[in-house]
Amino acid sequence: MKKTAVFPGSFDPITKGHEAIINRSTQIFDKVIIAIGENSKKKYLFDIEKRKKWIKQTFPENSKIDIQVYSGLTVDFCLNNKANFIVRGLRSSFDFEYEQAIALTNKKLAPTIETVMLFAEPKYSMVSSSIVRDIINNKGNAEQFLPDAIKID
Ligand code: ADP
Repeated sequence: MKKTAVFPGSFDPITKGHEAIINRSTQIFDKVIIAIGENSKKKYLFDIEKRKKWIKQTFPENSKIDIQVYSGLTVDFCLNNKANFIVRGLRSSFDFEYEQAIALTNKKLAPTIETVMLFAEPKYSMVSSSIVRDIINNKGNAEQFLPDAIKID
């Protein structure tokens, strides 16, 4: 059976850390759906069009990667897209606590879906969208943390 994974996130914005996890996921799975969460109650720095455009620019032609926007439960999105795996990245013990709670809850909601955690490479373990947003909000240059293909405008 074809192995399809969903990599869900806000990607506000996509960083080099996300890019590395996605590239590694394509070595493991037949197809990786990058699922951009759009929650009307959540405040984003960048709108959905920009977040999606930057992900497209990061992966211009990779037949294993699909980019979609979703709202609602991640497990429902997985079931609707015939994906049996959720990929998440782990940077630290803080991520672990948070990710474990989500993964165990998702397993209860949808027992057929496995969450697969990939450890961040040390060089990316301090990269986060929230720190990138802080830099941008304060007019700093966050380029080194962003995929080479994208330019924040
Ligand atoms: P969310 O709002 O769901 O946390 P994010 O876009 O912040 O969305 O993150 C999506 C996933 O990417 C999460 O599993 C997060 O732990 C992981 N991630 C974020 N930054 C990195 C990084 N630098 N290295 C590895 N994984 C990361």
